[in-house]
Order: sequence, then structure tokens, then C-alpha cells
Amino acid sequence: MPELPEVETIRRDLTPRIVCRTVAEAWVSPDAPKLVQGEAADSFCRRLAGRRIEELDRRGKYLLIRLHGGLTWIVHLRMTGGLIHSRGGCPQERFLRARFRLDDGSHLCYVDLRKLGTMWLVDDESKVVGKLGPEPLAEAFGPQELHRLLAKRSAPVKAVLLDQGAVAGIGNIYADEALFEAGIRPAKAAKALSRRAAERLQRAVRTVLMEALEDRGSSFRDYVDAEGEQGMHQLRVKVFRRTGEPCYVCGTAIKRVRVGGRSTHYCPKCQR
Ligand SMILES: [Zn+2]
Repeated sequence: MPELPEVETIRRDLTPRIVCRTVAEAWVSPDAPKLVQGEAADSFCRRLAGRRIEELDRRGKYLLIRLHGGLTWIVHLRMTGGLIHSRGGCPQERFLRARFRLDDGSHLCYVDLRKLGTMWLVDDESKVVGKLGPEPLAEAFGPQELHRLLAKRSAPVKAVLLDQGAVAGIGNIYADEALFEAGIRPAKAAKALSRRAAERLQRAVRTVLMEALEDRGSSFRDYVDAEGEQGMHQLRVKVFRRTGEPCYVCGTAIKRVRVGGRSTHYCPKCQR
């Protein structure tokens, strides 16, 4: 569920709170056996303890916590993961899967209802994020780049937007919203898009992600920011989960179909 705007909101919130702090103690719950990837949880905790946090970065939906000594702690929240900084105890104790005490006595609490989230501690980030496509908000990602990428693919345009190896950070919410904004049918073959349509889509992706960032993300279900608060963008979506409700532009009922195995929302009149 957390996509680029949600992970970026968490990154921005956490930066002033945890950069320059040292991880005093790390604990991973035994009931989250898949949380730590690439090594046993106790080895991960041992290696993390005593490290100073130097910088927070993001690639797609991955949060990169760079540590002193060249190690990076990488977190992917998947469906229901949340990373909450707390000066008291950890919230949502029932779903607490890992806890990191910092040297100022505060805690970084990892909660995850469905336990699908993952963490790594690596010296080479490319082992985890090396195959991701370009960042959609980067200057280098222009309309030509998107058109070139779509022209090679016969899959539905929505499936290409969701492919993290094509573009990084877009999930189901923002793919549907960007395609509505651009007036493009989600099931249309990617390579059938004209240069002008690709240009509209590139602008739409940017607009939708920037607006969601302004709203501190979308909270349809579980997403909360680093203070445990919900985002606001769910109140501003135009098609996502609005099945049967009137399109804000033309009044036609929003339709729901499956595209590339994912539930997809669109306006049959505005999107061609
Ligand atoms: Zn419409």
C-alpha cells in the first residue's frame, strides 16, 4: 500500500528525528520470521546496534537508512508496514514486529499487520534496489524517457506503470489516478500510446505524485506517517475505489475492471 508519496513522507518526517542518532539496541519479534532478509534476525540486530544513522534516502518504495561505516539499512513496508518514531513506548503493540532504541531514549517502532514487510542490512545497496527503473519525479525522467519505455511493451499501460523495473515507486492508487489525469484507458497497450499521450501521462504522473506528497500520502487502510498520523490524499482521489460513483468531470459512473491482475478504476468516457 505505501507508494512513493507515503515512503517519501516517512523519509522527510524521520530525517530530523533520527539522523545523527545511534541505534542503541535492536529487537525483531520472533513472530516475524520473514522481516529480516539475507541473514538471521539476531545477526541483523547485532550488526545494527552501535551504528550511527547518517542519512535517509529513498528509491522507489524502498527507504534507505545510511549508516556510519558504509552499511545501509533498507526497509520495504509492502502492504501494511509502518515505521513510527516515538518518544514514549511503541504504539500498536499487537502488530509491533521490531523495535529500535536510539541513543536519545526514543524508539523507532516497526508495526505490520500482515507481516509482509522486509528489511536488509547491506554494504552494497544495488543488491536490493539495483534493478529499479527511474524515479518518476527526477529531472531526468521526461516525456521522451516515458515514451521510449512504453514503446517497447505490449502489456497494458497500467501494468507497465506498476512494473518497478520500468518506473520505480508507483503502485495501484497512483497508477489509476495518473491514467485518469492523462485521459488514458488503463488496459490500452503501452506501445499503442502516441508521443503526445505519453507526454500527458508523464505530466500526470508528476502532478498526481506531487499532490499526494502535499497531502502527506493516502490512508485507505493502514498507512500512517512517522508520527502515526494518517495522510489526507484519499479525500482527493478522482477514481481509485470510487466504483459506481460519478466522475467529477463528466458524471459517468466510475468502472472497476481487472488489469494485469490488479483491481483498476477508470472513467469510461474521459479515458480513451
Ligand atoms: Zn469522466
